[in-house]
Parts: sequence; structure tokens; C-alpha cells
Amino acid sequence: MREMSRRTHIEIAPGELAAGLRPAFRGELLWPGEAGYEAARRIWNGAIDRRPALIARCTGVADVLAAVRFARERELPVAVRGGGHNVAGTAVCDAGLVIDLSPMKGMRVDPAGRRAHAQPGLLWGEFDRETQAFGLAAPGGIVTHTGVAGLTLGGGIGWLMRKHGLTCDNLRSVDIVTADGQFVRASAAEHPELFWGVRGGGGNFGIVTSFEFALHPVGPTVLAGGVLYPAAEAAQVLRRYREYAELAPEELTTILFLRYAPPLPVLPEHVHGQPVIAIFACYAGPVEEGERAVAPLRRLGTPLADLVRPIAYTAHQGTFDAAVPHGLRYYWKSDYLAGFSDAAIEQLVARAWDMPSRKSYTIIFQLGGAVRRTGEDDAAFSGREAPYALNINAVWSDPAEDEAQVAWARGFWEAMRPFATGGVYVNFLGAEGEDRVRAAYGAAKYQRLVALKRRYDPTNFFRLNQNIKP
Ligand SMILES: Cc1cc2nc3c(=O)[nH]c(=O)nc-3n(C[C@H](O)[C@H](O)[C@H](O)COP(=O)(O)OP(=O)(O)OC[C@H]3O[C@@H](n4cnc5c(N)ncnc54)[C@H](O)[C@@H]3O)c2cc1C
Repeated sequence: MREMSRRTHIEIAPGELAAGLRPAFRGELLWPGEAGYEAARRIWNGAIDRRPALIARCTGVADVLAAVRFARERELPVAVRGGGHNVAGTAVCDAGLVIDLSPMKGMRVDPAGRRAHAQPGLLWGEFDRETQAFGLAAPGGIVTHTGVAGLTLGGGIGWLMRKHGLTCDNLRSVDIVTADGQFVRASAAEHPELFWGVRGGGGNFGIVTSFEFALHPVGPTVLAGGVLYPAAEAAQVLRRYREYAELAPEELTTILFLRYAPPLPVLPEHVHGQPVIAIFACYAGPVEEGERAVAPLRRLGTPLADLVRPIAYTAHQGTFDAAVPHGLRYYWKSDYLAGFSDAAIEQLVARAWDMPSRKSYTIIFQLGGAVRRTGEDDAAFSGREAPYALNINAVWSDPAEDEAQVAWARGFWEAMRPFATGGVYVNFLGAEGEDRVRAAYGAAKYQRLVALKRRYDPTNFFRLNQNIKP
């Protein structure tokens, strides 16, 4: 036994690895050749094709503890999988152990106390369903098949953030398994520095096995949807939008899409395939108030379609699901945008529709409001002052096109750099290296994160992530 533990993971046959973990593990164990392995190693981004030696599908905290201790003992590289959505593909690894949390979907809502306890395998659609049963919500992402875990640990931007803050701002505590295989609870009162770090610092400090969220009354019906304008009017629409956005109430969050309209049932047929600028909005308050707030959005140009209407919050959350299916090839470049100067608008208009794939798109999130009201030092999440987050998404299916598709996103991103703040939202990073992770946090905060990493993970056991090196 001792002899085997000294051999590297590469020398050990995958089935032998599983046999080593089996006695301590209740969930499913999958290795190359096993039924279910091929599906389990796939994630949202079809461009990621990694072959783990073992996938350990955890059923609970005991499995997570066992998997961490086992990986330490055998010195296995470890990837941690929540919803499997990260574009960089950090949920899976080659020749190592994937600690797959996706079977852990337990959730408890306390309607009176307005709290939710959520396990890390939940997706946002599943989470929202439980909280909306009581007319409550925590700010989440804008696609229902994104994981609660990774999104929360990186920050979490979405429709409710300008009113209720980032997802991580609504976190009240976490249960976390640290690199040395210990189980701790972190909150404002217990392990407060660790709690600071998990609110934006990603998966660097341990595996979160439970998230406690504060909930807010939302909907169940909200005023939400998009107004679509022809791309030919984009410059005018953006100039009018920038004035509108500065004065928009905090209840209202808007998100801009610059793209060719996809053939989705939510969009009228006459816009399918058309180059459009779509301004989507969600009002986190009474519908009648929302009508007043969105009225100017309907007058930015000549609308091709007006889809803003009262809708169930859970239905609105699913609006974009079909536009970003699992298995296509995705490549993202992102930065915070300092604003819509005339020069920035000129670049956006010149580049956003000039792509080799009509599935590709550019998305711009309006930040501000409650995101900015929380202090920059209150959590590891960085960039609260930024007014917008720009994310250029190349989307295609043929591997032969990889180079051309990536080149479009990179070229567009380079052209937008003069209008960026210098920061970037960590959850929108691809595999871009240490400098970009530093840029995501800024120098001072990065040092504080390094100190925390030294304390909780000095050997960099959790390194397949947007890594903060100890
Ligand atoms: C289609 C799509 C839409 C998106 N929309 C939004 C959005 O609206 N708002 C937004 O903020 N972001 C959004 N994102 C980005 C998203 O926040 C990140 O991709 C995030 O990493 C996804 O989390 P996940 O659990 O699904 O991913 P995974 O790939 O499973 O996890 C990503 C990383 O998080 C860490 N991790 C995951 N679970 C745990 C855990 N329990 N404990 C410790 N570490 C863990 C690991 O390091 C892992 O590699 C979107 C992404 C996609 C693909």
C-alpha cells in the first residue's frame, strides 16, 4: 500500500485508483472505459477535451472529504466541478482527479428568515425554482444552466445585482473543505478572512459544500425582456442608451447584446438572422413602476421588436438558455469597460458584427447601483467602480475554424482595450495566465489573496482555477 502511494498517478491504472478511493466513497466513480465516463468528462465548453484519470461524483460532504484526502495522499492533480460552465474548462483536468459536485443538489429555503442553504451541484434554474416558490430570490446569473457554485465564488453578476448586490454580496456563510482535508464554516464571525476570500476569490481556498444566501422578495412576475434595434442604428442607440443608463433606477438592470439574432422561439421570426443591438432589461420592483422606467428604452431608435412584458422571473431567467447550448466551441475575451465614449462606440460598431460565425456575440452588462455601494475592500471581488463589463464571445462548432474564431475575439478585444478600466471579472477569464488573474484583482488585493492562500492552501493543492499562487 505504502509503495503504491509513492507511485505517480500516471503509473497507476485508473481502475486501481478507483479501488483505492472506493472504501471511503459513497458516490459514483468513473474512469476511462467505464460507462458514463465520456459524458461525465464533458463540460459546457465543447472546445475543452480533457481525460481525467478518475471522476469522483460526490453525494455529500463525506465524499468531498474522502476525495480531498485521497488526492493529497496520492498527490493527484485535482479539478473541482460545480455546474461545469467555466469557459476556461477548469472543472476538468487531464490525468488527475475530478471532484465532481454536480450530484449534490440539496437545498433548503427558510421563507420566514429569508435564507437559503444550497449545495454546490445546483444550477441557477434549480435554485430559482425553490426560492421563487416563496416569491424570493438571490441575485444569480442570466442563464439557468450555469452553476451556483462557480458563479458565486467568482462574484456573480445578473439581473438583480443593481438592486440587491452581487451574488457573493448575498452570501452569509459557507461550509468549506480546505486543502488539508478540514471542514470549516466561514462567515463574517468565523474565519472572516476566508469568508472575505471566497466572495470573489474563486475555488482557490477550498471546496464549498454549502452556501447560505440572504433572499429578497422578487416577482414572481417581473417586467422584463428586450427591445431590438437594427445594427445600422447601433451608434445612435448606444449614444442615447449611455445617457439613459446613467440615470436608470437601481431596480433596473440592462444588458446589451450585439449580434445576429438567433432563430429562437422567444424572438419574432422577422428578426431571425438580422444584425441587431438588443437591450434587455429586468425591473426588480412593481411592474407598473417598471413600465415607467423602461419607457425610454423603447425610444432609442426604430425598434424591430419590443419584447418587454410582465413575465415570471423564472421564465425570464431562461430567456437566453437556448442561445448558449452545451457542446459548442466557446472562446471569451473580457474587460470592464470605462464607458461608452464616442470612440468606444465607433469600435463596437466597426467590430461587433464583423465576425466569422453568426453564432458569436458581444454582451455588455450594466453594473453600478448596489454593486458599487458595497466597499471595494469588503470582499475579494474586484471592479465595483466599473460601469460596464464587456464580454466578447466567439461561438462555433468546427475545430478547423478555431484560429479564425479566436482571432476575431482577440482582435476586437485589443481594439477595445483603450476603453477598458484595466480590470476584468474573474469569472469571464479564459486560460489567460497569471497577469490577467492579477489584473482581475489589482495589485493590493492580489497580495491579500496570496496571504490567504498561504494560510489555507500553502501547497497550491487547488490550482486548476484562476490561480492565486501561494
Ligand atoms: C452560458 C454562461 C452564462 C454565464 N452567465 C453568467 C452570469 O450571468 N453572471 C456571472 O456572473 N457569470 C456568468 N457566467 C460565468 C460563470 O460565472 C462562470 O463560468 C462560473 O465559473 C460557472 O460556475 P460553474 O459552477 O457552472 O462552473 P465550473 O466550471 O463547474 O466551476 C468553475 C470553477 O469554480 C470552482 N468551483 C466550482 N464549484 C466549487 C465549489 N463548490 N467549491 C470551490 N470551488 C468551486 C472551481 O475552481 C472550478 O474550476 C456564465 C457562464 C456561461 C458559460
